[in-house]
Amino acid sequence: MSFSSLAKQELCRLEELRDCCALAELAALLHGCAILHLGREGWRLSLSTESPAVARRTALLLKHVFLVSPQLNTLQRRRLGRSKVYRLTLGPGPEVLQILLKTGLMRQSEEGLTFTRAVPGSILRRSCCRYAYMRGAFLATGYLNDPEKGYHLEICGTDAEYAASLCRWLNRQGLRARVVSRKEVQVVYIKDSEQIVTFLSMVGAHKALLEMENVRVEKDMRNRVNRIVNCEQANIEKTLSASQRQVEAIQDLERLGGLRRLSPALLKTAELRLEYPDATLQELGEYFSPPVGKSAVNHRLRKLEQLACEWKEKLGEE
Ligand SMILES: [Zn+2]
Repeated sequence: MSFSSLAKQELCRLEELRDCCALAELAALLHGCAILHLGREGWRLSLSTESPAVARRTALLLKHVFLVSPQLNTLQRRRLGRSKVYRLTLGPGPEVLQILLKTGLMRQSEEGLTFTRAVPGSILRRSCCRYAYMRGAFLATGYLNDPEKGYHLEICGTDAEYAASLCRWLNRQGLRARVVSRKEVQVVYIKDSEQIVTFLSMVGAHKALLEMENVRVEKDMRNRVNRIVNCEQANIEKTLSASQRQVEAIQDLERLGGLRRLSPALLKTAELRLEYPDATLQELGEYFSPPVGKSAVNHRLRKLEQLACEWKEKLGEE
């Protein structure tokens, strides 16, 4: 099961169902995926989702807030990998209009009934309800990337006006959401991992949050360890190859009788290098008494290499 589905399942199992929050969550679910039909007998509402958990949750909320029981049907989709679709239907009847008005999907004004294409701020005054609305929006059309593959949370819809309103509203809640239009679909998304964690904490997806934090820490650690290992590896190789070259040069000098002619400082350097082939320049400098700096050691070792070359050249060696 995908990370997104697991997060949704977790949210659907939340049992905190205050009346105010139940209404807010339901409002977002309906705004995200309800389809309305007006017939002779009044409004009919249907809601389709691929998640059985979301279908059950919506039915539960409808029952909790409006004391109605929608009908549940399972349909087999022909295309798209023959996935199942769970459809709730309610009405036609006057109770549907009540639901539409109370959840803020419709408004009664002087001009009559109008659809609202904005987040219904009037039912979201408390922070508990605002979080419930986010939860509903995510359950309706949300998607959360597996954090191993990258950080991305989105809520999709076809209505550009609603998407813009949802995005502005999320930003007022302290999140940094953006909208992008993908073909016919409007996508409200959050990319930043910290922000996604905040969102998950607001909506109550604590398991998903922990999972994501674990992945985040692990990834971070892996990256840091890799960086350190690469860096150390490179340093070790550099030290070894330079030191091997130096040791060879000194051995050449010894073999060709050049050591006798060295100044005391160079001779000491040569002796120390042979004694401590793995030491860094700094460490080598510390073996002198009095100690000498890294650059002086470097200079002397270069000089030794240079002398070895000169000696070899003089004696006709390669
Ligand atoms: Zn509430």
